Amino acid sequence: MRIGIMGGTFDPIHLGHLRAAEEIYWAFDLDKIIFIPSSRPPHKDANKVAPALHRYEMVSLATIFTPYFSVSSIEIDRPGRSYSVETVQEIQKVYGKDAVLYFIVGVDAFLEISTWKDARELLACVRFIVTARPGWRLDDVERSLRSKQLEKLGNPRFRYLKISEIESEAEIKTPKKGLVLLVEVVSHDISSTEIRHLVEEGRSIRFLVPDTVAAYMDKNQLYRENSRRRAGSVRDVEALKLRSSELKIHDAGNPRGRLLGELRSKKD
Ligand code: ATP
Ligand code: MG
Repeated sequence: MRIGIMGGTFDPIHLGHLRAAEEIYWAFDLDKIIFIPSSRPPHKDANKVAPALHRYEMVSLATIFTPYFSVSSIEIDRPGRSYSVETVQEIQKVYGKDAVLYFIVGVDAFLEISTWKDARELLACVRFIVTARPGWRLDDVERSLRSKQLEKLGNPRFRYLKISEIESEAEIKTPKKGLVLLVEVVSHDISSTEIRHLVEEGRSIRFLVPDTVAAYMDKNQLYRENSRRRAGSVRDVEALKLRSSELKIHDAGNPRGRLLGELRSKKD
């Protein structure tokens, strides 16, 4: 089995995460990708992060209609801090030693990796895929790391790849351990930080997160502490009114209106 692992704070999950995962899934012929929300991210202030259960629920909602995406509470269930090295060891145990694990991480996160617990061990036990993100140069990753940092990682080798190159090169789909693949996915300039700011300012986040996630955030009043949303709520009410008046026009006799009418009478 070929399994992708994508960890993150997912505060909240957004289309940037999902699109990167989607491209890697197809390019590497994976069987599934497991999204793993962290409980208390070691490198982020835990008090400023939404409760783990909300982040988990949002990842579930975002992935529910994609059969090859799943979500695991493995890090949320584990007491104390979350370390990737422990997570991958646990997943390997569950799926058996024949399972090939791909650890998928964005370039911004990878550049911090020498500060992670047992980074060398982590690199040695999974295949590493580093994905592009606007604002970071993927083809410059090796040069951006200092020799001390590279040494701490066990001096891995790097290979920069476009998605089309992976598709045409069968052996690169199962790279040797210790080789870090830098993969140029179509990257979207979206971050959870930006989404939290937009919500705080009462602005639209449509087409940045799945609609199900936006609805969950709204229902649970997430990221709204200093919100000035009143103006937005008035706009929403106006939009609803507009939609219902449009429906009335359709009802007046055009085919869609008739269809709606027929459906209604069938239900009655
Ligand atoms: P924050 O702004 O709160 O740090 P984020 O958008 O960076 O949030 P994280 O949960 O920190 O999201 O990221 C989880 C993983 O997803 C990391 O490996 C990160 O590099 C990657 N990632 C985040 N956003 C994108 C994106 N737009 N495109 C590709 N990868 C991304
Ligand atoms: Mg981040």
